[in-house]
Amino acid sequence: MRHVLSVASECVPLVKTGGLADVVGALPAALAPQGWRLRTLLPGYPAVMRKLGRKARTVREESDLMGGPARLLSARAAGLELLVLDAPHLYEREGAIYLGPDGRDWPDNPERFAALSWMAATIAAEGADSWRPEVLHLHDWQAAFAPVFLRDMGAAGSVGSLLTVHNIAFHGIAPASRLAELRLPAWGFHAGGFEYYGKINALKAGLVYADRLSTVSPTYARELMRPEFGMGLEGVLRSRGADLVGILNGIDETAWDPQTDPQISNFASPKRKRPNRKALLAEFGLADTGGPLAVVISRLTHQKGLDVLLEALPAFIARGGQLALLGSGDSELETAWLLAEEAMPQVAVRIGYDESLSHRMMAGGDAVIVPSRFEPCGLTQLYGLRYGAIPVVSLTGGLADTVIPANDAALTAGVATGLQFHPVERDALAGALAQLCDLYADRRTWNRMQRRAMAHPVGWAASAPRYAALYESIAPA
Ligand code: ADP
Repeated sequence: MRHVLSVASECVPLVKTGGLADVVGALPAALAPQGWRLRTLLPGYPAVMRKLGRKARTVREESDLMGGPARLLSARAAGLELLVLDAPHLYEREGAIYLGPDGRDWPDNPERFAALSWMAATIAAEGADSWRPEVLHLHDWQAAFAPVFLRDMGAAGSVGSLLTVHNIAFHGIAPASRLAELRLPAWGFHAGGFEYYGKINALKAGLVYADRLSTVSPTYARELMRPEFGMGLEGVLRSRGADLVGILNGIDETAWDPQTDPQISNFASPKRKRPNRKALLAEFGLADTGGPLAVVISRLTHQKGLDVLLEALPAFIARGGQLALLGSGDSELETAWLLAEEAMPQVAVRIGYDESLSHRMMAGGDAVIVPSRFEPCGLTQLYGLRYGAIPVVSLTGGLADTVIPANDAALTAGVATGLQFHPVERDALAGALAQLCDLYADRRTWNRMQRRAMAHPVGWAASAPRYAALYESIAPA
């Protein structure tokens, strides 16, 4: 076996706020058959520490890591080989993993994740638990200082580094005055390094200094180099274009299998979805209109375009559509959706996070709507495909790469798996939803499309070998 240290701030099933956790949790099992053993380095949040139990072994100690003592623990939990950075002064606090009780970023987030990155580099440079990785696989800004630390330790040549961008919107910004506290070397603080408009930018550190870069879909890889999507880092990405690839995310096909999912009435064909649809209508208190039952499962943020869906909703309802939404996030959007629920009996809303309900929604839904303004890969449209909930998606990022839109050519050729619209504006989305209602009324076409959707490959079979090849290309000889 070859060896990779995968470094991230969240990982299913231990701690999750979004798709990053799903992917980090799925990679080890996906890459093992390719001959790569992944150990995952995570922060020791209370949720992680609780799951480690007494089996964890201390494999390294630090008397002072960014303001307090820290231990590196090694453990197996939830089928994963873990290394956990136990640093109570950084991680032992209740609340969300990135946000304090006031709903703002923890002020010491730069230290919390610089510490994680520093530990990753140290494990690569010195080894830990009698083990040393050949490749550091870093995820998002929280791990992105690692290539800088590696260089500073003089160890950049002994391990390959890959930074995967799951979402370019999050940079990890800190004031320049924190340089020393973050253990960052002055040599990198300039426009060609990790300096960004006078501040420290963690993601940029990784984009500049990692050996290779990847992101989670081919379309997003191209989009990232454009100002509309690059969030100020498009220039850096363009300069590293030759080192950047897009590799689609897969889903965990065991956890998301309509034939065995314990949360639902199991089914192997679209027709057998019916009991789930009925149960979902009842669970959400919706009286069946006979039209398509669309679902949304999402963070409620500007990125996700759900304000635009609110605008398109009356037209969809007028054509017989109905909708169940599960989500949480910005309070303004939460309020707007609750108001829509009050105003329209065909709309039902659950504010919150509920993994098991999300399974029942995919099983019972006729369609899943994903109107994102940008979407690096997106997972809910993949769950929708697998569960025969036809994806209605905007033409961006991974949504563009995973859904075959029902235009005339695709319908004639019998390959369509969903609907796509562009731009993310009311009329375009309303048009797609109108087409959804028409297709739904044409039972033969609809059933065929659902069967094709369910057969569309959404696992790791195609992407795992690509990651393996990428690891191979950067591992030291
Ligand atoms: P992002 O990572 O930008 O949030 P993705 O589509 O890549 O978007 O991943 C989101 C993941 O989080 C999916 O697994 C989705 O099912 C899940 N999810 C999002 N919101 C909720 C919620 N309110 N309840 C349950 N699961 C949710």
